[in-house]
Amino acid sequence: MATLITGSCLCGGVRFEIARAVGPFELCHCGRCRKASGSAFAAMITVRTDDFRLLEGQHLLARYDAPILEGPPAYRRSFCCRCGSPVPAPDAGVDSIEIPAGLFDDDPQIRPDKHIYVELEPPWFSIADDIPRLTKAMLVEWRHLHRSPTGA
Ligand SMILES: [Zn+2]
Ligand SMILES: [Zn+2]
Repeated sequence: MATLITGSCLCGGVRFEIARAVGPFELCHCGRCRKASGSAFAAMITVRTDDFRLLEGQHLLARYDAPILEGPPAYRRSFCCRCGSPVPAPDAGVDSIEIPAGLFDDDPQIRPDKHIYVELEPPWFSIADDIPRLTKAMLVEWRHLHRSPTGA
């Protein structure tokens, strides 16, 4: 039987587990991810909703939807209202969610596969690894080619 991979917020009030991470595992340099994470990029791992279980902290979940820039869905940030950590909070009927990689207490058994929105990288940071670097335009093309058969 596969071992479950656990994660939690800074205060420990929100705890969750996943059966596995299917990916992608993207490092997003867009301005919204930078502000939401407070860092050079957001490290986000895609997990199927069926593989995700919230163990504790439903009452601590809060949400913020940023104004829509180009089209729905809105850029949504879910966070723990006690400590402010970003936390996963899947909507009903959604196939997959992105989980901030820093929340995992165990090794998620997956590694970053690409940087995205690299044209928005801040001047004080330089990528120093060898994984692919995609601009927004390249990402649109990549998603078109790699669309999952079960995806919406
Ligand atoms: Zn918390
Ligand atoms: Zn982003």
